[in-house]
Amino acid sequence: MIIIGAGFAGLAAGIYGRLNGYRTEIYEMHNQPGGLCTSWKRNGYTFDACIHWLVGSSPESNLHNIWLETGIAPGREFVYAGEYYRAEGADGRTIIFYADPDLLEKHLLAAAPEDKKPIKDFIAGIKMSAAFDFASEKEPLLTRIRKQVRTFFTFMKYGKEFRRWTGITGEEFASRFSDPLLRQAFREIWIPEFSMIFLFFTFAYLSKRNAGYPIGGSMPMSEALEKRYRDLGGVIHYNKRVARILTTDGRATGIRLIDCTEVSAGRVISAADGHATLFDMLDGKFLDKKIREQYDTWPLFHSLLFVSLGVNRKFDDVPVSISGFSFPLKEPVMVADKMRDRLPVHIFNQDPTLAPDGKTSVIIMLESDHGYWKKLAEDRAIYVQKKDETARMIIRLLEQRFPGISDQVEVSDVATPLTFERITGNWKGSFEGWLITPKNAYTMMKPMEQTIPGLQNCYMCGQWVEPGGGLPTAIMSARRLMQHICREDGRKFRTE
Ligand SMILES: Cc1cc2nc3c(=O)[nH]c(=O)nc-3n(C[C@H](O)[C@H](O)[C@H](O)COP(=O)(O)OP(=O)(O)OC[C@H]3O[C@@H](n4cnc5c(N)ncnc54)[C@H](O)[C@@H]3O)c2cc1C
Repeated sequence: MIIIGAGFAGLAAGIYGRLNGYRTEIYEMHNQPGGLCTSWKRNGYTFDACIHWLVGSSPESNLHNIWLETGIAPGREFVYAGEYYRAEGADGRTIIFYADPDLLEKHLLAAAPEDKKPIKDFIAGIKMSAAFDFASEKEPLLTRIRKQVRTFFTFMKYGKEFRRWTGITGEEFASRFSDPLLRQAFREIWIPEFSMIFLFFTFAYLSKRNAGYPIGGSMPMSEALEKRYRDLGGVIHYNKRVARILTTDGRATGIRLIDCTEVSAGRVISAADGHATLFDMLDGKFLDKKIREQYDTWPLFHSLLFVSLGVNRKFDDVPVSISGFSFPLKEPVMVADKMRDRLPVHIFNQDPTLAPDGKTSVIIMLESDHGYWKKLAEDRAIYVQKKDETARMIIRLLEQRFPGISDQVEVSDVATPLTFERITGNWKGSFEGWLITPKNAYTMMKPMEQTIPGLQNCYMCGQWVEPGGGLPTAIMSARRLMQHICREDGRKFRTE
Protein backbone atom coordinates (compact mmCIF):
# COMPACT_ATOMS: atom_id res chain seq x y z
CA MET A 1 0.00 0.00 0.00
CA ILE A 2 1.22 3.45 -0.82
CA ILE A 3 -0.05 6.24 1.42
CA ILE A 4 0.30 9.84 0.29
CA GLY A 5 0.93 12.23 3.19
CA ALA A 6 2.30 11.81 6.72
CA GLY A 7 -0.27 13.99 8.46
CA PHE A 8 -2.41 12.47 11.21
CA ALA A 9 -4.61 10.62 8.71
CA GLY A 10 -1.71 9.24 6.64
CA LEU A 11 0.27 8.08 9.67
CA ALA A 12 -2.83 6.51 11.20
CA ALA A 13 -3.61 4.73 7.91
CA GLY A 14 -0.05 3.39 8.09
CA ILE A 15 -0.48 2.27 11.71
CA TYR A 16 -3.80 0.47 11.11
CA GLY A 17 -2.42 -0.92 7.86
CA ARG A 18 0.58 -2.40 9.67
CA LEU A 19 -1.62 -3.70 12.51
CA ASN A 20 -3.57 -5.59 9.86
CA GLY A 21 -0.56 -7.08 8.16
CA TYR A 22 -0.24 -4.80 5.11
CA ARG A 23 3.10 -3.60 3.76
CA THR A 24 2.86 0.19 3.79
CA GLU A 25 5.03 3.01 2.52
CA ILE A 26 4.22 6.65 3.15
CA TYR A 27 5.36 9.36 0.73
CA GLU A 28 5.44 12.80 2.36
CA MET A 29 6.45 16.01 0.61
CA HIS A 30 7.64 17.76 3.80
CA ASN A 31 10.71 16.78 5.82
CA GLN A 32 8.76 15.96 9.00
CA PRO A 33 5.60 14.22 10.18
CA GLY A 34 2.29 15.76 11.26
CA GLY A 35 1.01 17.91 8.39
CA LEU A 36 -1.10 20.63 9.99
CA CYS A 37 -0.43 19.25 13.46
CA THR A 38 2.85 21.06 13.76
CA SER A 39 4.88 23.70 15.52
CA TRP A 40 8.14 25.48 14.86
CA LYS A 41 10.94 26.85 17.01
CA ARG A 42 12.43 30.34 16.95
CA ASN A 43 15.10 31.47 19.43
CA GLY A 44 13.93 29.17 22.23
CA TYR A 45 10.20 29.77 21.66
CA THR A 46 7.88 27.14 20.21
CA PHE A 47 5.00 28.44 18.10
CA ASP A 48 2.19 25.94 17.83
CA ALA A 49 0.06 25.93 14.69
CA CYS A 50 -2.56 23.48 15.78
CA ILE A 51 -3.62 21.98 19.06
CA HIS A 52 -6.08 23.84 21.26
CA TRP A 53 -8.04 20.84 22.48
CA LEU A 54 -7.84 17.12 21.90
CA VAL A 55 -11.22 15.46 22.01
CA GLY A 56 -10.99 12.00 23.58
CA SER A 57 -8.31 12.97 26.10
CA SER A 58 -10.34 11.46 28.96
CA PRO A 59 -9.76 7.73 29.55
CA GLU A 60 -13.54 7.51 30.14
CA SER A 61 -14.25 8.62 26.57
CA ASN A 62 -15.27 6.23 23.79
CA LEU A 63 -12.67 8.02 21.65
CA HIS A 64 -9.75 7.47 24.00
CA ASN A 65 -8.98 4.11 22.40
CA ILE A 66 -7.83 5.75 19.19
CA TRP A 67 -5.21 7.69 21.15
CA LEU A 68 -4.04 4.50 22.83
CA GLU A 69 -3.96 2.51 19.59
CA THR A 70 -1.94 5.17 17.80
CA GLY A 71 0.54 5.75 20.62
CA ILE A 72 -0.52 9.31 21.43
CA ALA A 73 -2.13 8.92 24.86
CA PRO A 74 0.52 6.95 26.75
CA GLY A 75 2.57 9.25 28.98
CA ARG A 76 0.84 12.43 27.78
CA GLU A 77 -0.17 15.05 30.33
CA PHE A 78 -3.32 17.08 29.67
CA VAL A 79 -4.34 20.49 30.99
CA TYR A 80 -8.05 21.20 31.46
CA ALA A 81 -8.71 24.93 31.24
CA GLY A 82 -11.65 26.31 33.19
CA GLU A 83 -12.69 28.46 30.30
CA TYR A 84 -12.90 28.23 26.53
CA TYR A 85 -12.73 31.89 25.51
CA ARG A 86 -13.50 35.40 26.73
CA ALA A 87 -14.59 38.54 24.94
CA GLU A 88 -13.66 41.84 26.55
CA GLY A 89 -15.99 44.76 25.87
CA ALA A 90 -15.29 48.45 25.39
CA ASP A 91 -17.68 49.07 28.33
CA GLY A 92 -15.41 47.24 30.79
CA ARG A 93 -17.51 44.05 30.84
CA THR A 94 -16.09 40.65 29.93
CA ILE A 95 -18.06 37.67 28.67
CA ILE A 96 -16.45 34.43 29.79
CA PHE A 97 -17.26 31.10 28.19
CA TYR A 98 -16.70 28.77 31.13
CA ALA A 99 -16.24 25.05 30.49
CA ASP A 100 -18.74 24.26 33.25
CA PRO A 101 -22.26 24.75 31.78
CA ASP A 102 -23.86 25.70 35.11
CA LEU A 103 -21.25 28.35 35.80
CA LEU A 104 -21.57 29.50 32.18
CA GLU A 105 -25.34 29.83 32.46
CA LYS A 106 -25.10 31.83 35.70
CA HIS A 107 -22.48 34.14 34.25
CA LEU A 108 -24.30 34.77 30.97
CA LEU A 109 -27.63 35.40 32.73
CA ALA A 110 -25.98 37.88 35.07
CA ALA A 111 -24.30 39.62 32.12
CA ALA A 112 -27.45 39.90 30.00
CA PRO A 113 -30.70 38.90 31.78
CA GLU A 114 -32.68 40.19 28.81
CA ASP A 115 -31.15 37.39 26.71
CA LYS A 116 -32.48 34.65 28.96
CA LYS A 117 -34.13 32.74 26.07
CA PRO A 118 -31.05 32.22 23.82
CA ILE A 119 -28.86 31.65 26.90
CA LYS A 120 -31.18 28.90 28.14
CA ASP A 121 -31.28 27.43 24.61
CA PHE A 122 -27.49 27.38 24.46
CA ILE A 123 -27.14 25.62 27.80
CA ALA A 124 -29.90 23.14 26.90
CA GLY A 125 -28.04 22.39 23.63
CA ILE A 126 -24.83 21.66 25.57
CA LYS A 127 -26.66 19.40 28.00
CA MET A 128 -28.42 17.60 25.15
CA SER A 129 -25.06 16.90 23.49
CA ALA A 130 -23.53 15.79 26.80
CA ALA A 131 -26.33 13.23 27.15
CA PHE A 132 -24.91 11.24 24.22
CA ASP A 133 -22.68 8.59 25.75
CA PHE A 134 -21.35 6.53 22.88
CA ALA A 135 -20.06 3.03 23.55
CA SER A 136 -16.45 2.12 22.96
CA GLU A 137 -15.77 -1.18 21.22
CA LYS A 138 -13.16 -1.99 23.90
CA GLU A 139 -15.72 -1.91 26.73
CA PRO A 140 -17.16 -5.14 28.13
CA LEU A 141 -20.13 -6.42 26.15
CA LEU A 142 -22.73 -5.63 28.81
CA THR A 143 -21.51 -2.03 29.25
CA ARG A 144 -21.54 -1.64 25.48
CA ILE A 145 -25.09 -2.90 25.16
CA ARG A 146 -26.23 -0.69 28.04
CA LYS A 147 -24.65 2.38 26.41
CA GLN A 148 -26.02 1.54 22.96
CA VAL A 149 -29.53 1.22 24.36
CA ARG A 150 -29.11 4.52 26.22
CA THR A 151 -27.79 6.26 23.09
CA PHE A 152 -30.75 4.92 21.12
CA PHE A 153 -33.18 6.44 23.63
CA THR A 154 -31.20 9.69 23.69
CA PHE A 155 -31.61 9.87 19.91
CA MET A 156 -35.30 9.13 20.24
CA LYS A 157 -35.64 11.88 22.83
CA TYR A 158 -33.52 14.56 21.17
CA GLY A 159 -33.51 13.52 17.48
CA LYS A 160 -35.80 16.36 16.41
CA GLU A 161 -33.91 18.97 18.44
CA PHE A 162 -30.62 17.65 17.13
CA ARG A 163 -31.74 18.00 13.52
CA ARG A 164 -33.14 21.48 14.19
CA TRP A 165 -29.82 22.72 15.59
CA THR A 166 -27.76 21.27 12.74
CA GLY A 167 -29.69 23.70 10.51
CA ILE A 168 -28.78 26.78 12.57
CA THR A 169 -25.45 28.54 12.10
CA GLY A 170 -23.41 30.32 14.76
CA GLU A 171 -24.07 33.61 12.98
CA GLU A 172 -27.85 33.11 13.04
CA PHE A 173 -27.74 32.13 16.68
CA ALA A 174 -25.58 35.15 17.61
CA SER A 175 -28.16 37.44 16.04
CA ARG A 176 -30.74 36.25 18.61
CA PHE A 177 -28.94 38.14 21.40
CA SER A 178 -29.89 41.71 22.09
CA ASP A 179 -26.87 42.50 24.27
CA PRO A 180 -24.23 43.72 21.76
CA LEU A 181 -21.26 42.20 23.61
CA LEU A 182 -22.93 38.82 23.91
CA ARG A 183 -23.88 38.97 20.24
CA GLN A 184 -20.28 39.79 19.37
CA ALA A 185 -18.93 37.06 21.66
CA PHE A 186 -21.14 34.38 20.10
CA ARG A 187 -20.15 35.54 16.64
CA GLU A 188 -16.45 35.22 17.27
CA ILE A 189 -16.34 32.20 19.57
CA TRP A 190 -16.17 29.86 16.59
CA ILE A 191 -16.59 30.09 12.81
CA PRO A 192 -19.91 31.91 12.19
CA GLU A 193 -21.01 29.72 9.26
CA PHE A 194 -20.63 26.56 11.33
CA SER A 195 -23.62 24.55 12.45
CA MET A 196 -24.44 25.20 16.14
CA ILE A 197 -24.42 21.51 16.89
CA PHE A 198 -20.63 21.56 16.68
CA LEU A 199 -20.41 24.25 19.37
CA PHE A 200 -22.74 22.29 21.64
CA PHE A 201 -20.57 19.19 21.33
CA THR A 202 -17.41 21.22 21.97
CA PHE A 203 -18.83 22.51 25.24
CA ALA A 204 -20.21 19.07 26.10
CA TYR A 205 -16.69 17.62 25.74
CA LEU A 206 -15.24 20.46 27.81
CA SER A 207 -17.79 19.92 30.56
CA LYS A 208 -16.81 16.24 30.74
CA ARG A 209 -13.07 17.07 30.84
CA ASN A 210 -12.73 15.22 27.57
CA ALA A 211 -10.96 17.87 25.48
CA GLY A 212 -7.66 18.61 27.19
CA TYR A 213 -4.63 20.48 25.92
CA PRO A 214 -1.61 18.13 25.70
CA ILE A 215 1.52 19.54 27.32
CA GLY A 216 4.23 19.94 24.69
CA GLY A 217 1.63 20.83 22.04
CA SER A 218 1.30 19.51 18.51
CA MET A 219 4.72 18.34 17.37
CA PRO A 220 5.35 15.78 20.15
CA MET A 221 2.03 14.17 19.24
CA SER A 222 2.99 13.98 15.57
CA GLU A 223 6.34 12.48 16.57
CA ALA A 224 4.60 9.90 18.78
CA LEU A 225 2.40 8.91 15.84
CA GLU A 226 5.41 8.57 13.57
CA LYS A 227 7.23 6.48 16.19
CA ARG A 228 4.25 4.13 16.58
CA TYR A 229 4.16 3.67 12.81
CA ARG A 230 7.88 3.00 12.51
CA ASP A 231 7.85 0.66 15.53
CA LEU A 232 5.27 -1.40 13.65
CA GLY A 233 7.69 -1.67 10.73
CA GLY A 234 6.20 1.09 8.58
CA VAL A 235 8.34 2.94 6.04
CA ILE A 236 8.26 6.71 5.39
CA HIS A 237 9.93 8.62 2.58
CA TYR A 238 10.27 12.33 3.36
CA ASN A 239 10.85 15.12 0.84
CA LYS A 240 8.94 13.09 -1.75
CA ARG A 241 6.11 14.96 -3.38
CA VAL A 242 3.60 12.88 -5.28
CA ALA A 243 2.65 14.38 -8.64
CA ARG A 244 0.33 11.68 -9.97
CA ILE A 245 -1.58 8.59 -9.07
CA LEU A 246 -0.97 6.11 -11.90
CA THR A 247 -3.99 4.30 -13.29
CA THR A 248 -4.60 1.56 -15.85
CA ASP A 249 -8.02 0.33 -16.95
CA GLY A 250 -9.85 1.89 -13.99
CA ARG A 251 -7.39 0.64 -11.35
CA ALA A 252 -4.75 2.57 -9.42
CA THR A 253 -1.37 0.97 -10.00
CA GLY A 254 1.07 3.29 -8.21
CA ILE A 255 2.36 6.84 -8.02
CA ARG A 256 4.72 9.17 -9.85
CA LEU A 257 6.82 11.62 -7.82
CA ILE A 258 7.67 15.10 -9.05
CA ASP A 259 11.18 13.87 -9.90
CA CYS A 260 9.44 11.41 -12.29
CA THR A 261 10.26 8.30 -10.22
CA GLU A 262 7.43 5.79 -10.48
CA VAL A 263 6.52 3.38 -7.69
CA SER A 264 3.97 0.62 -8.15
CA ALA A 265 1.50 -0.44 -5.49
CA GLY A 266 -1.37 -2.82 -4.88
CA ARG A 267 -3.40 0.02 -3.38
CA VAL A 268 -3.01 3.80 -3.17
CA ILE A 269 -4.45 5.83 -0.30
CA SER A 270 -4.35 9.60 -0.47
CA ALA A 271 -4.30 11.25 2.94
CA ALA A 272 -3.25 14.50 1.27
CA ASP A 273 -5.34 17.47 0.17
CA GLY A 274 -8.59 16.42 -1.51
CA HIS A 275 -8.55 18.92 -4.35
CA ALA A 276 -4.96 18.05 -5.28
CA THR A 277 -5.77 14.33 -5.15
CA LEU A 278 -8.82 14.48 -7.38
CA PHE A 279 -7.99 17.35 -9.71
CA ASP A 280 -4.18 17.14 -10.03
CA MET A 281 -2.94 13.67 -9.09
CA LEU A 282 -5.91 12.09 -10.92
CA ASP A 283 -6.31 14.86 -13.50
CA GLY A 284 -10.01 15.37 -12.73
CA LYS A 285 -10.81 12.10 -14.56
CA PHE A 286 -12.65 10.36 -11.71
CA LEU A 287 -15.36 12.71 -10.53
CA ASP A 288 -19.07 12.28 -10.20
CA LYS A 289 -21.82 14.87 -9.80
CA LYS A 290 -21.69 14.68 -6.00
CA ILE A 291 -17.96 15.38 -5.82
CA ARG A 292 -18.13 18.19 -8.36
CA GLU A 293 -20.94 19.86 -6.45
CA GLN A 294 -19.00 19.51 -3.23
CA TYR A 295 -15.87 21.19 -4.63
CA ASP A 296 -17.98 23.85 -6.36
CA THR A 297 -20.26 24.80 -3.49
CA TRP A 298 -19.18 23.63 -0.02
CA PRO A 299 -17.52 26.38 2.03
CA LEU A 300 -14.01 25.80 3.35
CA PHE A 301 -12.46 26.62 6.70
CA HIS A 302 -11.04 30.09 6.19
CA SER A 303 -7.38 30.55 5.57
CA LEU A 304 -5.32 32.17 8.28
CA LEU A 305 -2.91 34.95 9.00
CA PHE A 306 -0.97 33.52 11.91
CA VAL A 307 1.25 35.90 13.85
CA SER A 308 3.47 34.33 16.54
CA LEU A 309 5.33 36.37 19.12
CA GLY A 310 7.98 35.38 21.63
CA VAL A 311 7.48 37.75 24.58
CA ASN A 312 9.91 38.26 27.42
CA ARG A 313 7.31 38.36 30.20
CA LYS A 314 4.77 36.19 31.95
CA PHE A 315 1.01 36.74 31.75
CA ASP A 316 -0.11 35.49 35.17
CA ASP A 317 -3.03 37.92 35.06
CA VAL A 318 -4.47 36.20 31.96
CA PRO A 319 -6.42 33.02 32.85
CA VAL A 320 -5.53 29.79 31.11
CA SER A 321 -8.06 29.09 28.37
CA ILE A 322 -8.58 26.89 25.34
CA SER A 323 -8.80 29.61 22.73
CA GLY A 324 -7.67 32.86 24.34
CA PHE A 325 -9.59 36.12 24.37
CA SER A 326 -10.35 39.16 22.27
CA PHE A 327 -10.30 42.86 23.07
CA PRO A 328 -11.77 45.90 21.33
CA LEU A 329 -9.39 48.15 19.42
CA LYS A 330 -9.53 51.90 20.07
CA GLU A 331 -10.43 52.34 16.43
CA PRO A 332 -10.90 49.99 13.46
CA VAL A 333 -7.66 49.21 11.63
CA MET A 334 -6.88 47.52 8.33
CA VAL A 335 -4.70 44.48 9.03
CA ALA A 336 -3.68 42.85 5.74
CA ASP A 337 -6.90 42.45 3.71
CA LYS A 338 -9.55 43.22 6.34
CA MET A 339 -10.74 45.96 8.68
CA ARG A 340 -10.53 44.75 12.26
CA ASP A 341 -12.21 46.32 15.26
CA ARG A 342 -11.14 43.62 17.73
CA LEU A 343 -8.00 41.56 18.17
CA PRO A 344 -8.02 37.90 19.24
CA VAL A 345 -5.03 36.87 21.36
CA HIS A 346 -3.99 33.44 22.55
CA ILE A 347 -1.48 33.48 25.38
CA PHE A 348 0.09 30.03 25.69
CA ASN A 349 0.52 30.25 29.46
CA GLN A 350 -0.88 26.74 29.99
CA ASP A 351 2.32 25.15 28.72
CA PRO A 352 5.71 26.12 30.15
CA THR A 353 7.52 23.93 27.60
CA LEU A 354 6.74 26.41 24.81
CA ALA A 355 8.96 29.24 26.02
CA PRO A 356 12.10 29.80 28.12
CA ASP A 357 11.59 30.47 31.85
CA GLY A 358 9.74 33.69 32.55
CA LYS A 359 8.80 34.14 28.87
CA THR A 360 5.67 33.32 26.84
CA SER A 361 4.59 32.33 23.34
CA VAL A 362 1.67 34.39 22.09
CA ILE A 363 -0.39 33.75 18.94
CA ILE A 364 -2.70 36.06 17.03
CA MET A 365 -4.82 34.15 14.54
CA LEU A 366 -6.84 36.16 12.01
CA GLU A 367 -8.96 35.15 9.07
CA SER A 368 -7.29 36.33 5.86
CA ASP A 369 -7.93 35.76 2.21
CA HIS A 370 -5.72 33.32 0.29
CA GLY A 371 -6.21 35.28 -2.96
CA TYR A 372 -4.99 38.50 -1.34
CA TRP A 373 -1.66 36.93 -0.33
CA LYS A 374 -1.33 35.10 -3.63
CA LYS A 375 -1.55 38.39 -5.49
CA LEU A 376 1.03 39.98 -3.17
CA ALA A 377 3.37 37.03 -3.62
CA GLU A 378 3.65 37.76 -7.35
CA ASP A 379 6.38 40.10 -6.13
CA ARG A 380 8.33 38.34 -3.38
CA ALA A 381 9.74 41.59 -1.99
CA ILE A 382 6.27 43.07 -1.54
CA TYR A 383 5.01 39.87 0.09
CA VAL A 384 7.87 39.83 2.60
CA GLN A 385 7.44 43.53 3.27
CA LYS A 386 3.72 43.02 3.98
CA LYS A 387 4.51 40.23 6.43
CA ASP A 388 6.99 42.45 8.32
CA GLU A 389 4.56 45.34 8.31
CA THR A 390 1.80 43.06 9.66
CA ALA A 391 3.96 41.86 12.55
CA ARG A 392 4.83 45.45 13.48
CA MET A 393 1.19 46.50 13.31
CA ILE A 394 0.01 43.61 15.51
CA ILE A 395 2.60 44.49 18.14
CA ARG A 396 1.47 48.12 18.03
CA LEU A 397 -2.16 47.05 18.50
CA LEU A 398 -1.23 44.80 21.42
CA GLU A 399 0.17 47.88 23.16
CA GLN A 400 -3.47 48.96 23.67
CA ARG A 401 -4.04 45.92 25.91
CA PHE A 402 -0.53 45.24 27.23
CA PRO A 403 1.31 48.59 27.52
CA GLY A 404 5.07 48.14 27.14
CA ILE A 405 4.82 44.89 25.19
CA SER A 406 6.67 46.31 22.18
CA ASP A 407 9.90 46.31 24.18
CA GLN A 408 9.28 42.77 25.41
CA VAL A 409 8.75 41.09 22.03
CA GLU A 410 11.95 39.17 21.25
CA VAL A 411 10.79 37.18 18.24
CA SER A 412 8.03 37.59 15.68
CA ASP A 413 6.97 35.23 12.94
CA VAL A 414 4.20 35.57 10.36
CA ALA A 415 2.61 32.64 8.52
CA THR A 416 0.13 33.48 5.75
CA PRO A 417 -2.41 31.31 3.93
CA LEU A 418 0.38 30.66 1.41
CA THR A 419 2.60 29.28 4.19
CA PHE A 420 -0.11 26.77 5.18
CA GLU A 421 -0.59 25.84 1.53
CA ARG A 422 3.13 25.46 0.86
CA ILE A 423 3.86 23.37 3.95
CA THR A 424 0.80 21.09 3.94
CA GLY A 425 -0.63 21.34 0.43
CA ASN A 426 -4.11 22.22 1.74
CA TRP A 427 -6.37 23.80 -0.88
CA LYS A 428 -6.50 27.62 -0.65
CA GLY A 429 -4.68 27.33 2.68
CA SER A 430 -7.86 25.99 4.36
CA PHE A 431 -6.87 25.01 7.86
CA GLU A 432 -9.35 22.21 8.47
CA GLY A 433 -10.94 21.26 5.16
CA TRP A 434 -14.75 21.60 4.83
CA LEU A 435 -16.90 23.60 7.22
CA ILE A 436 -19.91 21.78 8.64
CA THR A 437 -22.80 23.95 7.58
CA PRO A 438 -26.51 23.19 7.37
CA LYS A 439 -25.81 22.13 3.74
CA ASN A 440 -23.55 19.20 4.62
CA ALA A 441 -24.40 18.54 8.29
CA TYR A 442 -25.89 15.18 7.20
CA THR A 443 -22.29 13.92 6.91
CA MET A 444 -22.20 13.83 10.72
CA MET A 445 -24.65 10.91 10.52
CA LYS A 446 -23.74 9.48 7.12
CA PRO A 447 -20.00 9.70 6.46
CA MET A 448 -18.61 10.57 3.03
CA GLU A 449 -17.36 7.93 0.62
CA GLN A 450 -13.65 7.11 0.88
CA THR A 451 -13.50 5.40 -2.50
CA ILE A 452 -13.15 7.19 -5.83
CA PRO A 453 -15.85 6.79 -8.47
CA GLY A 454 -14.72 4.70 -11.43
CA LEU A 455 -11.34 3.86 -9.91
CA GLN A 456 -10.49 0.71 -8.02
CA ASN A 457 -7.77 0.29 -5.40
CA CYS A 458 -7.63 4.00 -4.70
CA TYR A 459 -8.97 5.61 -1.53
CA MET A 460 -8.99 8.82 0.46
CA CYS A 461 -8.85 9.54 4.17
CA GLY A 462 -8.34 12.65 6.32
CA GLN A 463 -10.03 15.99 6.64
CA TRP A 464 -11.11 16.25 2.98
CA VAL A 465 -13.50 13.33 3.36
CA GLU A 466 -14.54 14.28 6.91
CA PRO A 467 -16.27 17.69 7.09
CA GLY A 468 -15.33 19.54 10.27
CA GLY A 469 -11.77 18.19 10.24
CA GLY A 470 -9.76 17.81 13.44
CA LEU A 471 -7.25 15.34 14.79
CA PRO A 472 -9.64 12.68 16.15
CA THR A 473 -11.51 12.75 12.87
CA ALA A 474 -8.29 12.27 10.89
CA ILE A 475 -7.48 9.16 12.92
CA MET A 476 -11.03 7.81 12.77
CA SER A 477 -11.08 8.41 9.04
CA ALA A 478 -7.98 6.25 8.57
CA ARG A 479 -9.37 3.61 10.93
CA ARG A 480 -12.69 3.53 9.07
CA LEU A 481 -10.87 3.17 5.77
CA MET A 482 -8.70 0.32 6.97
CA GLN A 483 -11.79 -1.47 8.29
CA HIS A 484 -13.25 -1.14 4.79
CA ILE A 485 -10.09 -2.51 3.15
CA CYS A 486 -9.98 -5.41 5.59
CA ARG A 487 -13.59 -6.16 4.67
CA GLU A 488 -12.66 -6.10 0.97
CA ASP A 489 -9.95 -8.66 1.70
CA GLY A 490 -12.08 -10.77 4.03
CA ARG A 491 -9.78 -10.01 6.98
CA LYS A 492 -10.83 -9.41 10.56
CA PHE A 493 -9.93 -5.82 11.45
CA ARG A 494 -7.31 -5.65 14.20
CA THR A 495 -6.33 -2.73 16.40
CA GLU A 496 -3.65 -4.41 18.47
C1 LIG B 1 -4.57 26.73 13.59
C2 LIG B 1 -5.14 25.34 13.68
C3 LIG B 1 -5.73 24.93 14.85
C4 LIG B 1 -6.25 23.64 14.96
N1 LIG B 1 -6.72 23.24 16.18
C5 LIG B 1 -7.12 21.95 16.34
C6 LIG B 1 -7.48 21.47 17.63
O1 LIG B 1 -7.41 22.17 18.62
N2 LIG B 1 -7.92 20.18 17.73
C7 LIG B 1 -8.00 19.35 16.66
O2 LIG B 1 -8.40 18.19 16.81
N3 LIG B 1 -7.64 19.79 15.41
C8 LIG B 1 -7.20 21.05 15.23
N4 LIG B 1 -6.80 21.50 13.98
C9 LIG B 1 -7.10 20.69 12.80
C10 LIG B 1 -6.12 19.56 12.53
O3 LIG B 1 -4.80 20.02 12.61
C11 LIG B 1 -6.36 18.99 11.13
O4 LIG B 1 -7.74 18.80 10.90
C12 LIG B 1 -5.65 17.65 10.96
O5 LIG B 1 -4.29 17.78 11.34
C13 LIG B 1 -5.75 17.20 9.51
O6 LIG B 1 -5.00 16.04 9.32
P1 LIG B 1 -4.88 15.35 7.90
O7 LIG B 1 -3.92 14.24 8.03
O8 LIG B 1 -6.26 15.05 7.39
O9 LIG B 1 -4.32 16.47 6.91
P2 LIG B 1 -2.91 17.25 6.88
O10 LIG B 1 -2.44 17.53 8.24
O11 LIG B 1 -3.11 18.39 5.96
O12 LIG B 1 -1.90 16.20 6.25
C14 LIG B 1 -1.72 16.06 4.87
C15 LIG B 1 -0.28 15.64 4.62
O13 LIG B 1 -0.13 15.33 3.24
C16 LIG B 1 1.09 15.90 2.79
N5 LIG B 1 0.97 16.12 1.33
C17 LIG B 1 0.12 16.96 0.71
N6 LIG B 1 0.27 16.87 -0.63
C18 LIG B 1 1.23 15.94 -0.84
C19 LIG B 1 1.84 15.41 -2.01
N7 LIG B 1 1.48 15.82 -3.24
N8 LIG B 1 2.82 14.47 -1.88
C20 LIG B 1 3.19 14.05 -0.64
N9 LIG B 1 2.67 14.53 0.51
C21 LIG B 1 1.69 15.46 0.40
C22 LIG B 1 1.22 17.19 3.57
O14 LIG B 1 2.55 17.67 3.58
C23 LIG B 1 0.72 16.74 4.94
O15 LIG B 1 1.76 16.22 5.72
C24 LIG B 1 -6.24 22.76 13.86
C25 LIG B 1 -5.61 23.18 12.68
C26 LIG B 1 -5.04 24.44 12.59
C27 LIG B 1 -4.32 24.84 11.35
